[in-house]
Amino acid sequence: MRVGIPRTLSFFTLYPLWKPFFEGLGVDVVVSPESNKALLDEGVKETVNDACVPIKLFHGHVAALKNKVDILFMPRLVSLDGKHTLCPKFLGLPDMVRCSISGLPEIIDSRLDLKKGKMELYRFLYRIGKRFTDNRIKIIRAIWRAKHNFSHYRKLLLQGLTPQEAFDCLDTGHEPQSGEDTASIRLAVLGYPYSLYDNYISVGLLEKLKSYGISVVTPEMVPERELRRMSKNLPKNLFWYYSNRVVWSCMYFLQKQSVDGVVHVTAFGCGPDAMTNKLVELETKYNTRKIPFLTVTIDEHTGEAGVATRVEAFVDLIRRKKGMM
Ligand code: SF4
Repeated sequence: MRVGIPRTLSFFTLYPLWKPFFEGLGVDVVVSPESNKALLDEGVKETVNDACVPIKLFHGHVAALKNKVDILFMPRLVSLDGKHTLCPKFLGLPDMVRCSISGLPEIIDSRLDLKKGKMELYRFLYRIGKRFTDNRIKIIRAIWRAKHNFSHYRKLLLQGLTPQEAFDCLDTGHEPQSGEDTASIRLAVLGYPYSLYDNYISVGLLEKLKSYGISVVTPEMVPERELRRMSKNLPKNLFWYYSNRVVWSCMYFLQKQSVDGVVHVTAFGCGPDAMTNKLVELETKYNTRKIPFLTVTIDEHTGEAGVATRVEAFVDLIRRKKGMM
């Protein structure tokens, strides 16, 4: 039995939970290839026109998997923190895919809503486990293994690793090398994990910044308790899970005075980002240090050269502000 997991959207958040879980049930996990032009073109062909680029790309990943697996794993993610809801496009994802792509294998689209309580994750995994085996002990062991792997993954992200670096550490069992951060410029690069860490979508933005000798921090590097603390500083939080994390992490980095600039990566056509981008911009603008702010909007036509030019100009501006040129 092979289960297919698209390498996008919640992949960068939850794959270290799904992979050991399915493997513990004796199921092979097949992940779609890294994003590329062919996958995106396929997704654009299959999706409604006004969808954002991450949703179009998701359709491309599903199309790449559909003939290679027996089951597609596409849970209906409603709430991952018990308080806030994911973007409506996440909620309707299984239905969108079923309507758009023909010849799909069976889809596991179980609903995960932690607003129903912390035990809901276990109930959710147990229900899925029952689809593959009647052996309760096997399911419970798989859940335990998944939870352990996931906790380790979260710790690796907090140490400053990207999801891919953390996946490599988990696969090889190696602990990351800790090096001193000697960069003279540090930027907060904010956005949703599926935009930031997908090199094709972000046109390699994180790598590019690191190649300029710039240290980069992202929302995944902020501890949960600090995000919760920041959430209390706003009279009202946003509805959406990932959007809140972007705003709270921005507030955290600004309060710590640990960054020289903020870059917000946003997808063209993203409804929640209309609010998120404005909030992040206002936080930087009305900060006493007046932190430089740049929005990078991505869509299916985004070119590497265009983003590189804007980012280089932004970095020059920060260097000048710091008296480095
Ligand atoms: S949050 Fe924005 S980018 Fe993400 S799926 Fe929803 S509309 Fe698309």
